[in-house]
Amino acid sequence: MLFAKKDNRPFLIAGPCSAETEEQVLETARDLAGMGIDLFRAGVWKPRTRPGAFEGNGAIALPWLRRVKQETGLRTTIEVANGNQVYEALKHGVDVLWIGARSTVNPFSVQEIADALRGVDVPVLVKNPVNPDLDLWIGAIERVQNAGVTQVGAIHRGFSAYAKSKFRNAPYWEIPIELRRRMPGLPLICDNSHICGNREDLLEVAQQALDLNYDGLMTEVHPTPDEAWSDAKQQITPSVYAELASRLVVRRETTDNIEFLENIENLRHKIDEIDLDLLNLLARRMRVAEDIGRYKLRNNISILQTTRWNEILEKGFAQGRERGLNETFIEKFLSAVHQESIAHQQEVMHAADGKTIPVQTTTTHG
Ligand code: PEP
Ligand code: MN
Repeated sequence: MLFAKKDNRPFLIAGPCSAETEEQVLETARDLAGMGIDLFRAGVWKPRTRPGAFEGNGAIALPWLRRVKQETGLRTTIEVANGNQVYEALKHGVDVLWIGARSTVNPFSVQEIADALRGVDVPVLVKNPVNPDLDLWIGAIERVQNAGVTQVGAIHRGFSAYAKSKFRNAPYWEIPIELRRRMPGLPLICDNSHICGNREDLLEVAQQALDLNYDGLMTEVHPTPDEAWSDAKQQITPSVYAELASRLVVRRETTDNIEFLENIENLRHKIDEIDLDLLNLLARRMRVAEDIGRYKLRNNISILQTTRWNEILEKGFAQGRERGLNETFIEKFLSAVHQESIAHQQEVMHAADGKTIPVQTTTTHG
């Protein structure tokens, strides 16, 4: 598989956000070829949030990429967003195509791209959709696979979030982790540039991805980043890129060292026991919640009492802090436990009222 980690070396994709001029493309590619990257990226058609920004040079930039390949031997990749772009890219010998985040959200676009790929079997990378929807990401991957493409990989580029954070696109690592669980053989690449939106955090995010056993990285590199026509803030020079790549620590997924395997087995056994204790405690907690439900029912008291919930949270934060537990985690954990307790109380009350309601509802489309 083209994108998979080989000999414990990550698959490196690098190049400018946009192919601006022939010189800029060739200069960047020459520098990167010397560093031994695996695939050269450049955007030819650029999806921009607002009109009026640089929307890429379009098909006139495709011969520049052919020159990259002829001069440096580097394979090339661009984003395609419709059937015509697939046709143009293949006509000009682009080696790998990627589907951008704004296309992955739209099954019509993905299907059009997949249909254009039928019978071609060019390698394709599918970026996550802009919204944190794993099924949509998997759906896009399946559409491409169903068109007969055998070399498919996923790119994690982060998700749009309204809340302000240090990231341009929130990583929500749990989503690509779940993708890995659901599609185990699928190569996974981290686009640290679009997650970060800045230069400072690129190394940290790249390392986090490698620590999660990602296969590779996609990073935006530009000869003069401050003057880039798109995504100036997050691009880095080839020499900064070389420095970043040299500082990455690549860890092995496993080993055959007996002592290590035995020690890890013991530690995992401890974890399994603690997990069982947690489940037993949670079950006990739900039984108490049901007692409370029955008691409130007899006294005609409502299930939700905001002051009590605030109290639980505040106490949880303080006790968690003393035990070195992160506040965000405590909030997520206690919210899940609280919601489940409410569901159990509701069940008790509604069974008594003779009304049955679904305790937990999940809605999915598709
Ligand atoms: C890009 O790679 O330059 C790009 C537009 O990415 P995304 O689809 O992740 O926004
Ligand atoms: Mn970009």
